[in-house]
Amino acid sequence: MSGRYIEVLLDVPLPPLDYALPEGETACTGERVVVPLGPRRRDVGIVVAVKDASDVDKARIKPAAAVLHDVVPLRREWLDFTRFAADYYIRCWGEASVATLPLFLRTVPRARYAGSLERIRRLPARTAKAAPRIELNDEQRAALEAVVQGEGYATHLLFGVTGSGKTEVYLHVIEEILRRHPQGQVLLLVPEINLTPQLEARVRGRFVDETVVTMHSGLTPNERARSWLAVHEGRARVLVGTRMAIFASFAELRLIIVDEEHDQSYKASEGLRFSARDLAVKRAHDNGIACVLGSATPSLETWAKALSGAYRLLRLTHRAVQAASLPAMELIDISRRKPRVFAPEIKTAIDETLARGEQVLVFINRRGYAPVITCTSCGWVSRCVHCSGFTVYHKAAQRLVCHHCGASYDVPARCPSCGNPEIVAVGTGTQRIEEGIETLWPGARVLRIDRDSVRTKNAAEAAFESVHAGAVDIIVGTQMIAKGHDFKRVSLVVVLNADAQLVNPSVRAEEHLFATLLQVAGRAGRDRLAGRVMIQTRFPSHPIYADVRAQDYERFAQRLLEARREAMAPPYSFQALLTAQSAALERTLGFLRAARTRAAALAAGDVAVYDPVPMLVMRLKDAERGQLLIETMRRPRRQAFLKDLAAALASIKDYPDVSWNIEVDPQDV
Ligand code: ADP
Ligand code: ZN
Ligand code: ZN
Repeated sequence: MSGRYIEVLLDVPLPPLDYALPEGETACTGERVVVPLGPRRRDVGIVVAVKDASDVDKARIKPAAAVLHDVVPLRREWLDFTRFAADYYIRCWGEASVATLPLFLRTVPRARYAGSLERIRRLPARTAKAAPRIELNDEQRAALEAVVQGEGYATHLLFGVTGSGKTEVYLHVIEEILRRHPQGQVLLLVPEINLTPQLEARVRGRFVDETVVTMHSGLTPNERARSWLAVHEGRARVLVGTRMAIFASFAELRLIIVDEEHDQSYKASEGLRFSARDLAVKRAHDNGIACVLGSATPSLETWAKALSGAYRLLRLTHRAVQAASLPAMELIDISRRKPRVFAPEIKTAIDETLARGEQVLVFINRRGYAPVITCTSCGWVSRCVHCSGFTVYHKAAQRLVCHHCGASYDVPARCPSCGNPEIVAVGTGTQRIEEGIETLWPGARVLRIDRDSVRTKNAAEAAFESVHAGAVDIIVGTQMIAKGHDFKRVSLVVVLNADAQLVNPSVRAEEHLFATLLQVAGRAGRDRLAGRVMIQTRFPSHPIYADVRAQDYERFAQRLLEARREAMAPPYSFQALLTAQSAALERTLGFLRAARTRAAALAAGDVAVYDPVPMLVMRLKDAERGQLLIETMRRPRRQAFLKDLAAALASIKDYPDVSWNIEVDPQDV
């Protein structure tokens, strides 16, 4: 036989490579193959084309080592989707495809591989507690019907206040889709699964007869492979997962839901910097299926699309539980008072809440004991030697920890600069608040929930369980306690340092603060208890607080969208960020200046290329970082421009010590 050839996609920054099929071997598109790569290396790749001739020189073309026929081939849909993602984020295809496969399937098989595959195919038996099916109210039913009525693609924004029963709508939609499509599958994306064990339990409890699997970074490689294969082979019907789950391969995907679509964790911050939310909409579009984005505080991008009619807007305007209403919001003005952790009226409110036997939630978005320690004599402050940032004092561990890079240091006994023995902790973090509460309310049971106190999924589950069980009176925590929890006995929420976010220079800081405040406020009064929210602030007249008090997302969004339109910022423009790093800031900026020259030459008036600047956290893990912002009015123009730019940057030879990255739709600008 003259031999047949295959094009193989590998996790290397190259287009698919040609290989020859061994004598007597067959392959089809989407199958995994083991191929040689260079003199010593063998890799697992994916066949993306089978052909009878190759343009590569016969003498140089290498034979594939083996075709793996043990798993259903990856489908066209998945290959097209991953290719789109790679193009859109200006990365190579292999990074969006091969690299997203579970380790087990992209590792060259060794002895006893077949047995391991069989073990991975076996799903553990689970016994979920059946959850009752709740009757939907009129608004929820209207939302359900809007989603399931039509055929084909549509993106719906399920815009509902906290506790309005969005999750309940998801569950009914899923139920209906699974009923209609006997082999159909559903993807439910969630921000951080460790933080919402309740949701996973609710889904399992509702679909006890179906296979529900999860995918998130807390799983072991084999657990992930198990979920991945069950979805790929059509054995699992529901996949609940974090952003990585958007790259799963489905046998028959029929619906995608993105819970809390505004959440920042949908955007990957390294490697392929994709937005799972944006990819979800695209994937639903290409599959001709429905996509549901749910939020009480949608991202402005999504909101603008709902207003323009590109997405369908479905509203849930009140809380689902009969007796529950939205909490009352109060601003506590501390601008003219001497600094105190708790204002007196907050203390009184906590006293009263505890006296009624209800729970209090204290939110402070900073972990550790104090954000910095300083010398009372010379003003020395604790800093990380690897990053441009202060180190946070962790009292229990007696360490100074850098929250950027994780480096930790001994707490000096005296000032390293002047020798003064008096060094003090300044500012407050969760640990200091916890300590303060223990002093003020010695009888109360206090639980701190942050990344230091709760490191594993089991620890998180146990912590939230003790809150639900009523074994805790006061919960102190970060963002971790703001998300999605249905705390039925919390009636008072106290917010301590919201102001810190207000001075953040990022374009999206205000949008994120609003979402956080409404979300954390939404933990109060979810059941029968009346909820009260107290926000301590030095800037009570800041416009954001009027909208927060009114809990009026639409008015807030209107104001921000007008400002964005004025500034021609997203969603009215499309951005990309070129970031670069090296050992020396001058080298980094030198590279960016060279990049700017090339970018300007490609820009032709319809693309704005800004000046290179150091990044906000300029030094991170000893790397000096800079960035260059690119902005255009049209998305297709940006894509073409970025492709050309990437090619031009690859040809810059004077800066081998500088590494760079193009980020599409950056969030932190
Ligand atoms: P969201 O996801 O919008 O925050 P959930 O779906 O978690 O809201 O619902 C909040 C609470 O209201 C839950 O305790 C839920 O069981 C309850 N709930 C939801 N829908 C209804 C309904 N139609 N009737 C009664 N209770 C409901
Ligand atoms: Zn000193
Ligand atoms: Zn550091």
